[in-house]
Amino acid sequence: MKCPFCGEDDSKVVNSRSGRDGAFIRRRRECLYCHKRFTTREKIENIPLFVIKKDGRREEFDREKIIKGILRACEKRDIPYSRIEEIVSNIEKSLYNEMSREIAAKKIGDMVMKRLQELDEVAYIRFASVYKEFREVSEFSKEVRALLNK
Ligand SMILES: [Zn+2]
Repeated sequence: MKCPFCGEDDSKVVNSRSGRDGAFIRRRRECLYCHKRFTTREKIENIPLFVIKKDGRREEFDREKIIKGILRACEKRDIPYSRIEEIVSNIEKSLYNEMSREIAAKKIGDMVMKRLQELDEVAYIRFASVYKEFREVSEFSKEVRALLNK
């Protein structure tokens, strides 16, 4: 994003707000060279978002990948596809509202889990077992017991 004052290309985001329709985001930026501030209106899909994996690798945010993960967890459950898409859109929107363009994979996983927990407990357990990589069966059954006791 070029600075309108000095033309340099490096700026940091100091504030972010999504537009009424959700397709645009308004960002207050500060130029790293002349330190002047300016506002931009950016199309959401033009702003890359990166996911930082557990091993430190960085990959571009992939909406389809999250949908696939949730679909797998929702297999044979009576959950409409539109509901899953809604969850992912919801997560996506709140990620784009973050200041940072880099989001820890763990954070996204937690967001999915929170929503699945409200949606369907079986799907939640399935997703959690893959995502949390329960090392021991005892850990897994602890989680299941906690659910049943609710
Ligand atoms: Zn500047």
